[in-house]
Amino acid sequence: MNYDVIIIGGGPAGLTSAIYAGRAGYKTALIEMGSPGGQAATTEIIDNYPGYPEGITGPELMLNFHKQAKRFGCEFITAQVTGIEQEGSARIVKTSQGQKEAKAVIVATGAVPGELGVKGEKEFRGRGVSYCATCDGFFFRNKKVAVVGGGNAAVEEAIFLSELAKEIVIIHRRDDFRADKILKDKALEKTNVSVMWDTVVEGIVGENKLEKIELKNVKSQEKTELQVDGVFLYVGTKPNTDFLGSLVDKDAKGYILTDENLKTSVPGIFAVGDCRQKRSRQVATAVGDGAAVMIALDEYLQL
Ligand SMILES: Cc1cc2nc3c(=O)[nH]c(=O)nc-3n(C[C@H](O)[C@H](O)[C@H](O)COP(=O)(O)OP(=O)(O)OC[C@H]3O[C@@H](n4cnc5c(N)ncnc54)[C@H](O)[C@@H]3O)c2cc1C
Repeated sequence: MNYDVIIIGGGPAGLTSAIYAGRAGYKTALIEMGSPGGQAATTEIIDNYPGYPEGITGPELMLNFHKQAKRFGCEFITAQVTGIEQEGSARIVKTSQGQKEAKAVIVATGAVPGELGVKGEKEFRGRGVSYCATCDGFFFRNKKVAVVGGGNAAVEEAIFLSELAKEIVIIHRRDDFRADKILKDKALEKTNVSVMWDTVVEGIVGENKLEKIELKNVKSQEKTELQVDGVFLYVGTKPNTDFLGSLVDKDAKGYILTDENLKTSVPGIFAVGDCRQKRSRQVATAVGDGAAVMIALDEYLQL
């Protein structure tokens, strides 16, 4: 067996698991297909992670996690994991660089926010375009923002933003929300929240900063523009779990199902962070999972 535990994914959840597993004395490897840091490393400033009263840049915070995991002896491997197989007590992790064996595996492969795929979206990402109001809403205090989407995430985040932003316009391509009625009612009661139904975003535009969005009414085909300071996009997120096939139980969207100890349906395979079914997807909750999994991991490795 090459390792006691292999962690797949080097975002906040995987790096935290690596710190705890390494510090507990387990022979640990972390396999990451890109540079360590995950989604958190793609954001300019993280303002809500405790311990940094002035905030900290995403890359800097993640570099600190990485250094700490290295200090406790975690081996870092750059490769894409393509599958996991079981052979007796061994968990075989198949990667683009060959296969590795471990007694246990922690899946921490995160998720990717769904993109609209319109002009300006990439250019203004982190500079007006956001996929997380809980993370970035604070930067839009007393400003005008658009929220794109009609599911629970979009409507919940619009409600959250209504306490911070001056005006929120929800842009939805249909004539009713998919969100739960209780959320719908709550959003529509807010005096600073309005909705543009049957409308899609065609472009995000600005000179040095985001200035406006280009819209089209899908029924009348009429094109309009809306001046905003920020755009929050909620067109779904996709967990990075396809590589697991049907090995572990997942929900309809592909999020891994775990119990409260972070165990999946397969003994010796655990899941932490944004790749698992849960309600709050944040650095702090990913870190919480990465630490909490140690109890079940310990129990499994002591068997
Ligand atoms: C733009 C943006 C801003 C955000 N801002 C904040 C914020 O301010 N505060 C906050 O608390 N949260 C914020 N979040 C949310 C936060 O970043 C995530 O909740 C957190 O990163 C989830 O951590 P994770 O480790 O579970 O997964 P991820 O961060 O998604 O990391 C998963 C890692 O696994 C790797 N991986 C995936 N598949 C494979 C594979 N097959 N083989 C090998 N490696 C693989 C990926 O490359 C990635 O590095 C933000 C998210 C985004 C997108």
